[in-house]
Formats: sequence, C-alpha cells, structure tokens
Amino acid sequence: MSTTEQSTPNEVQQELAALRQQLNEAQTHLAAYEKRVQQLETELAEKQSQTDVVTSQQQKIIGATQALLDIQSIEELWSVLCTAARQVMNSDRVAAYLVDAGSSNLQIPYASGLSETYLQFIRNHYRETPAYQAGLPETIVIDNVATDPRTGPLQAMMQQENIQAYAGLSLVTPDNTVVGMIVTYRDEVRPFTPEEVTAGETLCHIGAIALRNIKLLRETKENLRRERRLSEITYTLSSVLDLPTILSSVVRLATRLLNTDAGLLGLVVDEQFITYYPYNIPSHVNLRPSTNKENIAWKIVEKRDSLVLSDYAAYELAKEKWVRVGITALAGSPIIAGDNCLGALMVFNLRENYQQFSDRDVAILESVGRQAGIAIQNAHLYAETQQRANALAQTLKRQAELDELKNKFIHSVSHELRAPLGIIFGHVELLNQTLADDLQPEQRQSMEIILRRTRMLANLVDDLTALLAAQIQEFRRDKILAADLIYSMLADYQIQAAEANITLQADIAPQLPMIQGDMTHLRRVFDNLLSNAFKFTPAGGSVTIRMWAEESDVIIAVSDTGSGIPADKLKYIFERFYQVEEKGYHRPGTGLGLALVKEIVEAHRGHVSVTSKVGQGTTFEITLPGVSGDET
Ligand code: ADP
Repeated sequence: MSTTEQSTPNEVQQELAALRQQLNEAQTHLAAYEKRVQQLETELAEKQSQTDVVTSQQQKIIGATQALLDIQSIEELWSVLCTAARQVMNSDRVAAYLVDAGSSNLQIPYASGLSETYLQFIRNHYRETPAYQAGLPETIVIDNVATDPRTGPLQAMMQQENIQAYAGLSLVTPDNTVVGMIVTYRDEVRPFTPEEVTAGETLCHIGAIALRNIKLLRETKENLRRERRLSEITYTLSSVLDLPTILSSVVRLATRLLNTDAGLLGLVVDEQFITYYPYNIPSHVNLRPSTNKENIAWKIVEKRDSLVLSDYAAYELAKEKWVRVGITALAGSPIIAGDNCLGALMVFNLRENYQQFSDRDVAILESVGRQAGIAIQNAHLYAETQQRANALAQTLKRQAELDELKNKFIHSVSHELRAPLGIIFGHVELLNQTLADDLQPEQRQSMEIILRRTRMLANLVDDLTALLAAQIQEFRRDKILAADLIYSMLADYQIQAAEANITLQADIAPQLPMIQGDMTHLRRVFDNLLSNAFKFTPAGGSVTIRMWAEESDVIIAVSDTGSGIPADKLKYIFERFYQVEEKGYHRPGTGLGLALVKEIVEAHRGHVSVTSKVGQGTTFEITLPGVSGDET
C-alpha cells in the first residue's frame, strides 16, 4: 500500500483488520473449494470403480459366451454356465435344476458347493421352492433367507446348509420354452445388485441358446446315425431271404436304431396265433406263441395302427410279467405288406433308462415295419418259388425218364417188328405175284388189303426208326443239291397229282447254295409234306413247291389249296401222334409225319414253320442252312 500522506496508526489497524477479514474469507472459500475438489475426486473414483465393475462383468460375460458357444457336449455346458453364473452373480455356490416334462422329476445336471442331503431335499421338494412357486420364467432374488417369507418350507434346510441369500435365473430358449433354472447362493446376507442380476440373466439367456444349439447338433447327428442305420436295415432286409434271419434282424436293428432297451416282433401265423422274436428281453420271460388276443401285439395287428404308451403299468392290457421286467415306455407299429398286416414290431424302454417315444421314433418304427413287411412277403414268395421250382425240376426229371423209357420202348418194338414185318411183306408180295391170276375177286381184295396194311405197318416202323435216328442225330452229312431233291420229288408225285386232279407245280430259284445232310431222311421230310398236301386238298386244287435263298439259307415252301388247319390246333400238329380231329371222318395216318419232319429238319440245323387258313390252304416252310462257298 503506498500513500503520499503518512497514515495514522488507527488507519493502519483498520486496514489490517480488513485485510485479515479478506484473508479469512479467502481461506473459507479455499476450504470449500478443497472440499468440493475432494468430493469430486471421490465421486470420480466411485464412477471409475462402477465402470470397472461393469467392464469386468461384461468381460466375464463375453468370456463365458465364447466358451459356451464353443461347447459341444451338454455336460460341459452345465459346468461352464454354472461357473460363469456364480462369478457374475458374485456368489459362493451354484446349481442347475431341470424339470423333465415327461417324468416330472427334477434333474440336477450340475451343482457346486451343495451337500448331497440338500440336493436330495430339493429333488423331493422342488415344487415348494420359491422359484417353482413364483412360476418360471421369472427371476427370483432373495437377499436374506432368514427374513424373506418366500423361502417358506425351505428356510430351515437353507439355514442348515448356511445359505444366506440366493438368486434363481430362468433358462428360457428362444422359442420361449423354460428348460430349467440356474440358482446361485451366497454364504452371507448381501443384496444382489441390479447389475449382477442383469449380467446373470444375460448369461442364462446365452446359455439357453447354447443349450438349444447343442441339442440341435445332437439331433442332427442322431438323425444322420438313424438314416445310416435305416439304410443298413433296408440293405440287410433286401439281401436276406430266409425268414428266421429276417425276423431276428428286424427286431435287433429296430431296437438299436431307436436306442431302446429291448424289442419284440410278433408274427401272425395262420391268422390264429402270434409267434414272438425277442431282442434283449430277459430269457426268463415266457414268450410262447399266443392265441390270446388280449395283448398289445394283437391290438396293433387288429387296428393296423401304431401304439405308444408312456406308462406301461397303467395300460389296461399291461401284463404283470412285463411290469416286473421293468417296462415303462412302449412303442409298437404294425408290420404291413400291401393290404395285409403280418404282425407287430415293438420296442421298450426300461425303468433305468426312462425315455418316452417321440413322434419321430414312431415314424421310424412304422417305416421299419413297412420294410419288414415287404421282406417277409418276399421271403414267403421266395420259399414258394423255390418249392415250385423244385417241384418243376422233379416233374422235368420224371418227364425225361419217361421220354427215355418211351424211346427205349419204341426202339425195341420197332426193332422187333422190323424183321418179321419184312418177312411177312416179302411173302405176301410173292404170294400176290404168283397167285394173283388164280384168286377169286374176294380173295384178291383180301390179298390187297393185307398188302396195303402190311406196307402201312412197315412205313410206321420206318417212321419210328427215323424219329429215333433224328433224335440222336444219326445222319449222314452229304452235300446235296436241294433242287435235285425237289425235282425228283415232283416226278414221284406227278402221277398221284394227275389221278387226284390236283395241279402240282414248282417255282425254283436258280443258283441256290447246296445243303448238307442225309438224302434219305430229307426225302422223308418232303414225302410227308407232299402226301399231307395231297391228302387234304380236294380235286381241282393245287400243290406248289417254291424254293429260294435268303442270305445263306435255303427255303423250301410246300403250299396247298386244301382244307387248312384251325388256328388253335397249329401249335399241336408237330407233336407225335397228334391228328386234327374231323367230325365223323377219319383220315388215314399215324400223326407221326409232321413230328418226323420237325425232328429231321432240326437235326439238319434248320427249322420248320406253318401258316394256314381254314378253307383256303396251308403252307409249310422249311429253312435249311446252305453250305457257304459252294454255289450251283
Ligand atoms: P398224319 O399222319 O395224321 O398226317 P401228321 O403229323 O403228318 O400226321 O399231321 C398231323 C395233322 O396235321 C394231320 O392229322 C392233319 O390234321 C394236319 N395236317 C398236316 N398237313 C396238313 C395239310 N397240308 N393240310 C391240312 N391239315 C394238315
């Protein structure tokens, strides 16, 4: 302070007092500022620590999420999810609780820090727990077990277990199904913060998604496995043909395919009783065929529909023996083949491995039932076909034996007849020549009848011998000019044609290949064809022989304008001793002629065919292989 004038002491004191006051005020302000600064610093630190908590919670959730999404087994999921929940909820103990919809039992797939006594108590009293009472999927937070009335009947047990606070967080899948609950427990009374609860809920939400994904993955793998097994069944059933193997395979494969404990196939026999084929059913269970229709297999067969039981013992037709074996769940499907129900295929789950059968299981069982039906039917058909084939083989064998016997018989008869017939024929001819002029007309007629009939008998024996020769192919293999053969035949039949007033004509192509064979037997072929043609053609008609080549074959056709052969008889005319019957008229003949034609032609590696129209005429066509290189 500078002043030009000297200040008085009083003035100085006043100034000093003012300065002190100013100083005091400044100090008060400063203190207030310092306090504020301190306040701000504390607030800042608090905010910082809150942020740290949130950040660490978030980090825990992120870490757990990554772990949860990587997990492939449900067992591992429970352990990771429960541990992470305990951490974010800052709790001391944790457990996962699941209520099985089918059995209404409480399952505890994971628990940490809880005594077995406590867990057993919860298993028995879960319906009284606050979480169950509150109705899922609500989150339930109990900060002080001792004072919260919601703890109810569990309170004493919780205190015995030294549980002071706990929080139950629901596991709800994205399709809003509540699958269970994670409960975290504290050993001290300390309220759960909203941040903790939010973090716990978020974690459980992610856990439920991971659970669903694992289940989907499991299902997909299971479906794949089932599809493989199903195609294995298809393959097995289509490659096996004996019934016992099919039946035991079906029941074994179906039991394995559906992952069940035991299986039973009931097959209806004669529509009267059912025989059983078991798999994994204890041997002391009596499985004799039953005629009693009051059982499950018959019900399935009668209704032709599947049957599913979740509690076998409660079923009206339940049998004591099966209840004693421990059967709890059952699924059965009919074994269907076309319109028939052949039996029933059943699978069982026993008490220890309680599991209900789903719609999918039943659909699979039905599909196996249908496949089994087809396989059983095929096996029946196969057995029948086998039987028929065996019977046929027997008949054929018998036929061959009879043929052999017949041939032997014909052979010995013709052999025995040939010599005496030749002698008789020779003597009759001699008698006829020497006595002809001395005989009375009736005697001459008798002589002619004897001669004609003896010649017929000799021809028959010749035919039979030729037939046997054709069968065993006892033929010469000379090169023959087919045209020469036909011309000589024409010459032989000219007189007969003129007598019968039938035109006999020929149309023979030039330059035909030679054929190979036995002239005597080939003559016999055309003898038979021509004599038939004349026999069945009335006066005024015509008989024509045509001959031409087709590729390396020589074709010879003998046509007539005779009576023709009815279409339904054509297939028989080449059989031995067959003659087309004509009402009230019997033509001479033995029925051997065409059989001989066929046998001889086929023995020459050729074939014969016929076309005919009743009232218009008949054509026989002979095809014989030409001998290559030799042209005439
Ligand atoms: P058959 O000794 O009776 O002539 P085939 O075996 O030669 O014996 O002939 C069998 C049957 O075929 C004859 O009974 C006859 O009914 C019929 N048949 C054969 N050739 C002719 C033909 N050219 N015209 C009409 N029917 C014929």
